Amino acid sequence: MSQNKLTDRFGRTVNYVRLSVTDRCDFRCVYCMAEEMTFLPRQQVLTLEEIARVARTFVSLGTEKIRLTGGEPLVRKDILELVREIGTYGLRDFAMTTNGSQLPTMAEPLRKAGLKRLNISLDSLDPEKFASITRTGKLSRVLEGIDAAREAEFKGIKLNTVVMKGGNDHEIPDLIEFARRKNVDITFIEEMPLGEISEHDRGQALCTSDEVRDIVRQHHDLIPTPEDSGGPARYYRMPDSPIKVGFISPHSHNFCSTCNRVRVTVEADYCFA
Ligand code: SAM
Ligand code: SF4
Repeated sequence: MSQNKLTDRFGRTVNYVRLSVTDRCDFRCVYCMAEEMTFLPRQQVLTLEEIARVARTFVSLGTEKIRLTGGEPLVRKDILELVREIGTYGLRDFAMTTNGSQLPTMAEPLRKAGLKRLNISLDSLDPEKFASITRTGKLSRVLEGIDAAREAEFKGIKLNTVVMKGGNDHEIPDLIEFARRKNVDITFIEEMPLGEISEHDRGQALCTSDEVRDIVRQHHDLIPTPEDSGGPARYYRMPDSPIKVGFISPHSHNFCSTCNRVRVTVEADYCFA
């Protein structure tokens, strides 16, 4: 299907596309959104057919991997239809990033519709802390979602944890043990200046990947591995576990020169004007 390879002005070949399918979300994570949000008017949100057209166009230009994201992709009502459609494009990899709240009921239908891998955000294993970070989220629901995803036999499941100093950094060892026990990968992310936020100071909350690695190394050996998911994470393995531990370090290790992805927002006004 591919005719030309999509290459940007810096010579980077783009073969990985992240498609945002909604700007809406059922959580209000403190590092991502303000408590009171104004979302796009419905008529400015790409329709399912438009998103599928964008995806097909990228595939015709050599894209091999698509990730659906948001906002929260699973709050979009027609999401299964979109997954089913994109699932027919013969992609090498087809993934979604989700907060996990809808996975108890959606994991199996998503897998059956053709989705291959899931990234599930999990910043805390303490129900109160989880509620305070997400403002509206319920930890038990997300844990149920992680189990549902494991039962649905996705090809890969990875947890994403945004680490905040003085917020959830003390939970790093527990999160590693949880990932080992559930046999899922985990990636720790440095907080980025993205999204409107109102109630914490990003500068003070920054916990660098080096600091996180030092904490993990107090409990486990970490062996660097050249494995690459086509994204910005650097991966490590532990000698006594099959899982990978990743670090995304936009502050401490700039990765722009090797970036292979484009990001498409769901806003329609200039795309198909
Ligand atoms: N709602 C889904 C979720 O939370 O997984 C998908 C969208 S969310 C924007 C995608 C990922 O970005 C999540 O893992 C989230 O934790 C992370 N994220 C959001 N805001 C961030 C920020 N300011 N810095 C670093 N990561 C952030
Ligand atoms: Fe929603 Fe994901 Fe942002 Fe949290 S990180 S508010 S779950 S979009």
